[in-house]
Amino acid sequence: MIQKPKGTKDILPNETYKWEYVEENTKEILKNYGFGEIRVPVFEQTELFERGVGDTTDVVQKEMYTFLDKGERSITLRPEGTAGVVRAYIENGMASMPSPIKMWYMMPMYRYENVQKGRYREFRQIGAEILGTNSYEADVELIVMADQIIKKFHVPEVSLNLNSIGCPTCRKQYTEVLKGFIGNNLAQYCSTCQTRFEKNPMRILDCKEKKCKELNQGAPIILDYLCEECKTHFENVKKALEQLDINYVIDPNIVRGLDYYTKTVFEFVSEKEGYTVLAGGRYDGLVEELGGQKTGAIGFAMGEDRLIDIFEKYNTSSTITARTPDLYIASMGEIASKKAQILALELRKSGIYVETDICERSMKANLKYADKIKSKYVCVIGEDEINTGKAKLKNMATGEEQETELKTDAIIEIL
Ligand code: ATP
Ligand code: MG
Repeated sequence: MIQKPKGTKDILPNETYKWEYVEENTKEILKNYGFGEIRVPVFEQTELFERGVGDTTDVVQKEMYTFLDKGERSITLRPEGTAGVVRAYIENGMASMPSPIKMWYMMPMYRYENVQKGRYREFRQIGAEILGTNSYEADVELIVMADQIIKKFHVPEVSLNLNSIGCPTCRKQYTEVLKGFIGNNLAQYCSTCQTRFEKNPMRILDCKEKKCKELNQGAPIILDYLCEECKTHFENVKKALEQLDINYVIDPNIVRGLDYYTKTVFEFVSEKEGYTVLAGGRYDGLVEELGGQKTGAIGFAMGEDRLIDIFEKYNTSSTITARTPDLYIASMGEIASKKAQILALELRKSGIYVETDICERSMKANLKYADKIKSKYVCVIGEDEINTGKAKLKNMATGEEQETELKTDAIIEIL
């Protein structure tokens, strides 16, 4: 039997309701903050990610699904959303639209990962981006929105970790100090980190290798090297979050996996699972890097698979369930069967979830099936019911039966 590729999953009809719940509730919040949906291609030119994500990142160095298409073009399945969204922003001249532009997306991503808990090769992200503002207030609005989304799902022990990674100006001095620190032990770092040393030493702090993590203990932190502008920006963000009662902890170790981040970076981390559920930051350098005008921007991406995993595991107060039928109509004989179909059609048009027999089951099998699919009411229509124009609706939870006219309005009144 052919099996699904490693690191992918099938989401079956009896579990999609959880995904719908998360997606609908998140969308609602995104809309209240004025974000509009953007949809971009699943594949892009490889160069977009090399430049937009950064060629010293894990994503580009190790994780991309890249192939040549039949026209010999190098194509990559999108490993993240921001690069494609920014490309679309530039390509569609969105810079000349009223600014800032606020966009959200809900898209599957592809990364060739070491598959483990919370780490898949196809996974889904819900992301949000604000383009066209340098103000710290954009950072605050975005973080507050992320916080509202996370809190909406009542998952305990998810904490907001915050850091600033400065701008190219402050990073220059910091990079020198960091290289001094790492340089002492460079030979002991993994080979990927060794290649990062000259090009992008900060990336070494984001390495997942155990050995490198140990070596990084006690490394100098960028917060101590922020320039005046970055320092003020970060202070303003923190102050505003405090005024809005948003709890956070400063985590100087967040450098983020992607190259284009500047200033504020943040992660919502599940302490119970030890992984990040939502991560983001400012990326003031990206639009220019991809050929647009210099543009202040900030965004985040939430790992939907991880959110749903912890939602299922830890949200004990949740009462959401898959939708079950309001009514099952079982019929005997051809005339009754026609009547069942007409009633079902009318009720469905009125927004009622109705099931009828489409397997030519016996009456006994019909009733058993209605029970199995947890229909709230069952109605049996036979010759008598057709003659009298009346039937009984049985409430499956209480066993109570109520007589009704075989008419849409009368039935709806009972349901
Ligand atoms: P990590 O450090 O865990 O590898 P990252 O920096 O690669 O994360 P981002 O690119 O910032 O992650 O992605 C944002 C979010 O998307 C993550 O916080 C996580 O919730 C989710 N995510 C990233 N990679 C995966 C994956 N392979 N499987 C499932 N979810 C993922
Ligand atoms: Mg990663």
